[in-house]
Amino acid sequence: MEKTLIINSGSSSLKFKLFAIPTEDVLASGLIDRISIKGSSVTVKYNGQKYHQELPIPDHAFAVDLLLKLLVELHLIKDLNEITAVGHRVVAGGEYFDHSVVIDDDVIQKIAELSDLARLHNPANLLGIKVFKKLLPNALAVASFDTAYHHSIPEKNYLYSVPFEWYEKYGVRRYGAHGISHRYVARQAASLMNKPLKELKLITCHLGAGSSLCAVKDGKSFDTTMGFTPLTGVTMATRSGDVDVELVTYMMKKLNITDPEEMISILTRHSGLLGISGISSDMRDVIAAKDAGNKRAQIAVTLFVKNIVRYIGQYYAEMKGLDGIVFTAGIGENSDVIRKLVCDELEFMGVKLDDTLNSKGEEGFITKPDSKIAALLVPTDEELMISRDIEVIKLQEQKEISSKKPLL
Ligand code: ADP
Repeated sequence: MEKTLIINSGSSSLKFKLFAIPTEDVLASGLIDRISIKGSSVTVKYNGQKYHQELPIPDHAFAVDLLLKLLVELHLIKDLNEITAVGHRVVAGGEYFDHSVVIDDDVIQKIAELSDLARLHNPANLLGIKVFKKLLPNALAVASFDTAYHHSIPEKNYLYSVPFEWYEKYGVRRYGAHGISHRYVARQAASLMNKPLKELKLITCHLGAGSSLCAVKDGKSFDTTMGFTPLTGVTMATRSGDVDVELVTYMMKKLNITDPEEMISILTRHSGLLGISGISSDMRDVIAAKDAGNKRAQIAVTLFVKNIVRYIGQYYAEMKGLDGIVFTAGIGENSDVIRKLVCDELEFMGVKLDDTLNSKGEEGFITKPDSKIAALLVPTDEELMISRDIEVIKLQEQKEISSKKPLL
């Protein structure tokens, strides 16, 4: 049986999912954590079982080798040849990539070049790509980009009102993120709504540790909240979302900070839910503290919801209409509280939440049948989306080969 391995390689972690093809059954998933850091471990979940081991994992090459050996030992693959494709999630594809691509030297060079836009992520993604290329040289290697889906965003939505040369010379524009997730849940929502995606106006809300919203029109991304980097948009776990850039220089003076990177680090790691509440970056903790009467936790939840509502209002106007709002990712999928707070704010637009459906927390509609605008819960599955992209690429490659065959 053919198997596809999907990899999300971070600077100190490597997440994976192994699919059987064409059934799309998930054979195994897991995480190699704390690579090159004390306390590293590997976890593999398979057949309702869990394998966990703590051991020193000095680098990515060791991690990938360990993973492949474990997949054989746990009888998840007979041998390495069974893995016919490896899909890599890559954060920044810049203006180069508008769809998933087969990884060749040129693609590797472009991902490296784009490291400027995703300093932490792209180099880490490349580490994984290079090690797998070496250890599984015969497997089809594909890169899927978080930014690719947002290529369809029109100029009026991706340009900033700054000197135009910044865009022309330096590529300063909105790139967005979470594109694989937005694309997956938009398709899934259309299928649940029983309508062609092209005929729907949707707003997909990926609410996790990192959060972004995407306006989906004509089956494509039309606008999104993350910008040049994933720092902007709505309030996130530790990221600020939108701020006035002048507060950066103002606070540098106030805090005697000379290195702008230090300010970016505060806005990236010590802001958002954590910064406002002073309690936690995890929405579960913040909601618990709010329920216990903590004022700052209350403000954090209010800001989180308000920023989502603000963008839904903006996209409603930009798309000149709205058929559905889709909730996904850690918070979007698991927090009926946040879904309710957002939907209640939108009641005036014709969103009629069904409290029973909402509290069930299952995939599908969470609004009443007569709701003018539907709201849905759709668990995201970025790995499945990448795996499906790989199948499309395989088909295209087969077509190309057969079209090159001489006619008999
Ligand atoms: P990432 O962006 O890292 O992929 P996830 O999509 O996994 O993040 O989301 C993780 C976040 O989801 C956690 O930080 C937590 O705040 C939130 N979360 C998970 N379960 C719940 C829940 N039941 N209620 C509220 N928030 C939750």
